[in-house]
Amino acid sequence: MYNDNNAQTIVEYIKNFTRKNSLFMLAYGTGCGAIELPATLTSRYDAERLGVRGAATPRQADLLLITGYLSTKTLKRVIRVYEQMQDPKYVIGFGSCTINGGMYWDSYNTIKLLDKYIPVDVYINGCMPRPESVIAGFKELQRLIAEGKADGATKYKENLDWYRENQKKVLKNWPLVEYNW
Ligand code: SF4
Repeated sequence: MYNDNNAQTIVEYIKNFTRKNSLFMLAYGTGCGAIELPATLTSRYDAERLGVRGAATPRQADLLLITGYLSTKTLKRVIRVYEQMQDPKYVIGFGSCTINGGMYWDSYNTIKLLDKYIPVDVYINGCMPRPESVIAGFKELQRLIAEGKADGATKYKENLDWYRENQKKVLKNWPLVEYNW
């Protein structure tokens, strides 16, 4: 409910209210955690009642869900997909693998700490997180959006040099696009 003590203007409040209740999600099924998504999205847990539903392409998506471990090979595609999405856009890291590499932490090819490469608004820990945890993650993201605190896309633009430096350390000989935002 908007009131005069709210740090946001009424226009920002209305924008964020509509954004949080209409999340078009692109699920990037990089790891085994993706198997929990059908249950989360279908009738038993029914994430659509929260306003979360699937998107067909990056350009139609607001939310990128990374469902598990990333190798250097899949990180390339995740970065490209993230950059093809339009603002405002949000990222959820799903499963312990996105936080610390999980059970693959000592592999030569595993990406740890996803937020060194793209901004992550919410992490959902667990291996693998159950639908209840995924729903809790969606609700946490909605809270951040409603409060105007889900600003990963802005951070990405403002700190692009830092992200690019980290990306280039692991993605050798891969053409990363240079933007002039
Ligand atoms: S956190 Fe567990 S379930 Fe998720 S991708 Fe990693 S190993 Fe698979």
